[in-house]
Amino acid sequence: MKSYFRKEIDAIAGYTPGEQPKMSNLIKLNTNENPYPPSPQVMEVLRNFDPARLRRYPDPTADNLRDLFAASVNMKRENVIIGNGSDDLLTMIFRAFTSENLGVAVFEPTYSLYPVLAAMQAAPVTKIALDKETFAYPADAVKQAGNANLLIITRPNAPTGNAADKSLVRDICREFDGIVLIDEAYADFAGDNCAEFAAEFENVLVMRTFSKGSSMAGLRLGYAFGNAVLIDGLMKLKDSYNVDMLSQELAKANFLDAAYRKDCCARIIADREQLKKDLEKLGFKVVPSQANFLFAAPPDGDGAGCFKALRDEAVIVRYFPGEVTGKYLRITIGTPAENARLLEVLKKRFA
Ligand SMILES: *Cc1c(COP(=O)(O)O)cnc(C)c1O
Repeated sequence: MKSYFRKEIDAIAGYTPGEQPKMSNLIKLNTNENPYPPSPQVMEVLRNFDPARLRRYPDPTADNLRDLFAASVNMKRENVIIGNGSDDLLTMIFRAFTSENLGVAVFEPTYSLYPVLAAMQAAPVTKIALDKETFAYPADAVKQAGNANLLIITRPNAPTGNAADKSLVRDICREFDGIVLIDEAYADFAGDNCAEFAAEFENVLVMRTFSKGSSMAGLRLGYAFGNAVLIDGLMKLKDSYNVDMLSQELAKANFLDAAYRKDCCARIIADREQLKKDLEKLGFKVVPSQANFLFAAPPDGDGAGCFKALRDEAVIVRYFPGEVTGKYLRITIGTPAENARLLEVLKKRFA
């Protein structure tokens, strides 16, 4: 059959999400989900929600959530936009700021969705390599970004887990002549964040998600904040009712229980540091992480082989083929029992 698609769409391979296998008894450490459930307050709201309310459309701009999130970063409602997951916001951002003539610069390796979104816009992608051994950020990133109109800093970075120096991020925000998007999907697990740059610089957007630190990947909720003019422009191209009524209420209940969330994240951070030590004892090379996962190279540098060996024992982690990334596995921090099972399998192979 002849193709009816735009040529850009035919050329895209499409994004491959981490597997969501249907098997039971599986240890699932492959998509950086939180091993703990969301706040008990979420169940409370669900129990009391009257389904008759679903007859009505939701608040199209989710202003309750905008006010909550704005207050948490000392900004105003007009500085915040809500998305159906941060992937929804990324789609808006690529549609707004990239095209055939307006390129995007990303670091390499990073979140593999960005180039797919660029391809849909037929936008050129400039890849700025991180150090092949340490994944440190180059000092001349702005120069390497050239005349791109959008530059994305994933902080902490995925899949490597390290975070760019905050002073370097500030320099990039100041010097880059385009939009700087700071994707803070993993900020809950990091020692600091770059929220203040969204107020300090007119060209900066900071983005967060409920999928990782907030234990709600299934809900689909994210938000971005920045200069009101940028947010207003993005509002023009969002779906009218992009976040449903139930999600708005459940997200609010979960966000308000900050103490619970902090406690879950603190446990994950402590277990991350323990798992890092345990992997190093087995001879793994482990990148210092500010996220809820570890990027770890097995002693023989055979990421693919180790991935398969784990999979045979029903432990699923993430493997990214490639000259640099192919030596590593990305391992989500699970519950202590899940982490122990992972180690047990690895000990059989390497101890
Ligand atoms: C998980 C992740 C997201 C996507 O989050 P959703 O809100 O689930 O769409 C965005 N950016 C990075 C770097 C991520 O790892």
